[in-house]
Amino acid sequence: MSKDIEPIKDHFGRPLKDLRISVIDQCNFRCTYCMPKEIFGDDYPFLPESELLHFDEIVRLAEKFSELGVNKIRITGGEPLMRKDLDQLIQRLVNIPGIDDIALTTNAVFLPKKAKKLRRAGLKRVNVSLDAIEDAVFKQINGKGVVALPVLKGIEAALDAGLQVKINMVVKKGMNESQILPMARHFKGTDVILRFIEFMDVGNYNGWDLNNVVSKKQIIDTIHKEMPLESAQEHYYGEVASRFRYMDGTGEIGVISSVTDSFCGTCTRMRLSADGKFYTCLFASDGFDIKEKLRKGLTDEELETELISLWGKRKDRYSDERSEGKHKKRKKIEMSYIGG
Ligand code: SAM
Ligand code: SF4
Ligand code: SF4
Repeated sequence: MSKDIEPIKDHFGRPLKDLRISVIDQCNFRCTYCMPKEIFGDDYPFLPESELLHFDEIVRLAEKFSELGVNKIRITGGEPLMRKDLDQLIQRLVNIPGIDDIALTTNAVFLPKKAKKLRRAGLKRVNVSLDAIEDAVFKQINGKGVVALPVLKGIEAALDAGLQVKINMVVKKGMNESQILPMARHFKGTDVILRFIEFMDVGNYNGWDLNNVVSKKQIIDTIHKEMPLESAQEHYYGEVASRFRYMDGTGEIGVISSVTDSFCGTCTRMRLSADGKFYTCLFASDGFDIKEKLRKGLTDEELETELISLWGKRKDRYSDERSEGKHKKRKKIEMSYIGG
């Protein structure tokens, strides 16, 4: 149950409600738009285990965040299922008073082995990333030549274990706009909600260009022509996906339009990297190193003061600035490091 806590507010009055925890920076895929294999090759300096936050440290931080008003946690990566004993971390997070929603974002390949354990640990839902249903397209995107079947099996395993599943599909022009309709057809009428994500300019290596963005409008128009849609109400304050219902009553889809319809005004998310740095925006350049402070013996009161001060100073609104043409070119953190 949610505690009745007034969340802390940032410079623009935005409450701190969500914590996104990246548990590892490594991944079994090399998606071209996230970890291009030319950059993330065999000699890429991934974090050594000693640099990763320990579960005790993650739990301590999550407890403090829940005291400050956070009620949602998302576990991400890299590929979070590559972190050893992740179910043990989830079990501990589930038990924190005030945390009433924990979700996991994954490419699903390891779910057949792990879904039951995760469900037993108390996880209720997963977001599975799948950018194409046709093998030829998917093999190109994930950079490892993996076909769609292992991901579909992961989805099945999650559903069988009793986990709710949403699918995230990043749409990039020239990469997979051909898959919008096949993906919509595949998941229409199932228990799984498909959400399309506009390709974003996160990181430094994915060659982002506004011309490569397939807009929310284009995505909706494409589907609407074949499978009529109507707009649906948002579920809660700060929901990032715009929701659309199939008019024949066979379910809904979502679109996350951080490029063409940015939503910084309701952004309530703090991000924690696998090596213990806080980022107040997905497009930040620098993080705040809490691991170093924790390992030097930071007290609970000092931790609280640091977090309140960090959030209180927050002025990030990168996507809004991009829409206004005011954003500055700068070095950004990588998506595989911070986890989306
Ligand atoms: N490996 C896990 C996965 O793929 O679900 C979790 C980490 S991944 C970085 C989290 C999400 O970020 C995925 O859904 C991925 O498609 C999305 N993502 C990565 N780069 C992106 C970009 N440039 N624009 C939009 N979404 C992106
Ligand atoms: Fe890995 Fe996820 Fe990035 Fe793909 S999107 S490379 S699965 S971290
Ligand atoms: Fe939040 Fe930054 Fe994204 Fe805006 S650009 S919605 S502030 S993460």
